[in-house]
Amino acid sequence: MAYDFDLFVIGGGSAGVRCARIAAGHGARVGIAEARFWGGTCVNVGCVPKKIMVQAAEYGPWAEDAKAFGWDIECHGHDWSVLRAARDAEVARLNGLYRRLLEGAGATVFEAHARFLDAHTLQVGEERVTAERIVVAVGGRPSRPDLKGVDCGLISDDLFTLEKRPETVIVVGGGYIGVEFAGLLCGLGSKVKLTYRQKLPLRGFDQEMREALADALAAQGIDVFPGQKIESLEAAGDGRILTLASGQVLEADAVFLAVGRDPATEGLGLEAAGIETNERGAIRVDDDHATNLPHVYAIGDVTDRLNLTPMATAVGHALADTLFGKNPRRASYDNVPKAVFSTPPIGSVGLTEEEAEKRGRTEIYTTRFTPMRHTITKREGRRTLMKLVVDAESRKVLGAHMLGEDAPEIMQGIGIAVRAGLTKEDFDATIGIHPTAAEEFVTLRSPARTVGGEEEEAADDAA
Ligand code: NDP
Repeated sequence: MAYDFDLFVIGGGSAGVRCARIAAGHGARVGIAEARFWGGTCVNVGCVPKKIMVQAAEYGPWAEDAKAFGWDIECHGHDWSVLRAARDAEVARLNGLYRRLLEGAGATVFEAHARFLDAHTLQVGEERVTAERIVVAVGGRPSRPDLKGVDCGLISDDLFTLEKRPETVIVVGGGYIGVEFAGLLCGLGSKVKLTYRQKLPLRGFDQEMREALADALAAQGIDVFPGQKIESLEAAGDGRILTLASGQVLEADAVFLAVGRDPATEGLGLEAAGIETNERGAIRVDDDHATNLPHVYAIGDVTDRLNLTPMATAVGHALADTLFGKNPRRASYDNVPKAVFSTPPIGSVGLTEEEAEKRGRTEIYTTRFTPMRHTITKREGRRTLMKLVVDAESRKVLGAHMLGEDAPEIMQGIGIAVRAGLTKEDFDATIGIHPTAAEEFVTLRSPARTVGGEEEEAADDAA
């Protein structure tokens, strides 16, 4: 049977665009549909506009701090509308770029919703198309908790359409978005309350980093309510009232609910094609990102594996190379470096201390210091924490973590070393760049402690 397309991609976000573009470059006849905006979450309501706002938030303290370096600066506040216009212009530029990249590669672009009619047929807007292979790359969307009054809360997408900055804000959730939004809104001048249900933010991150971040959040003036479940939300005039399960009542102009994201599979007609999902609604895939139908693949956040843009892009690229480039390969999910753009940010790659400890004897190297800039500015709450997690036997650096200014930039390079399996001695043999914060990663002399390996030690004792 002749199909309209060799490959049809549903979803024009990071994963889908990369996959479509590369497949078209390999000579495949590619169609791609996007119903909302080219570039998906990352470009439109995620990484890009968020990072611009994080950068905007940095200028307030910098303007203040500049005085300590002799600058005669008075900061008269922040104009939200200027930031909004600049941010939206950049997002619009990227939207256009993504579309042009696809067209330039020879893909057929549909600005329409697509859904399965059967395993090879899709309804794309008004058209019906068939494809030999189909890739689902529809991403995710913010979850709304099962909470009385939930509709008067904002979700992360809403930050990017707000007409003005709320004077007072409550952020619910201690994950990536919760801590990033709390930091950027606080930096732009809002009075922020942050509440999460664990004792510390960022479950899954290295415990010491989590503790240091909790301290930093409080030091920048965010009111933190840890270990709290939420009970109900209600509107009171223009304001919002959030009641915690403890009975505590928090009030603010706006409440952001940052409680995770769900795969956006609704309305896709997966049942019509017989494509399986898991209990969270994510499309089940094997190691090659194939679904239970061998010609249908799913990539990016809709698979709920490691929901990071560069991971999605890498998977999309590898899939296109595999299917059409005569280069079968998989993107590796191991040692993926990641960053949280909190204030200060966190960069992290590899195992946490807690994970490594379970595997065997592990040396932990740490350092804490005040960045040079802040020895002059005297700004509180900006201490840097760096950590290496080292396998005591093989000497391999299993993990690296940093909370502090420039952590994401620094961690990209350290990520190469950890991925390459370099040892602590390789780190030590590398000459530092002076004076930088990054040089601390190659000058950590003696371990702060050795953890794990009790089982082996007990076995030795018995012998
Ligand atoms: P996360 O999964 O990171 O965090 C969700 C937070 O919400 C956790 O603190 C969780 O608590 C809490 N939570 C979940 N359900 C409830 C509930 N019913 N009531 C109260 N609290 C609840 O999700 P985010 O929304 O912050 O971000 C979504 C994903 O987007 C991230 O996981 C990440 O993959 C990606 N992202 C990446 C960024 C980056 O790379 N810098 C930036 C932003 C997002 P608990 O820990 O107890 O489950």
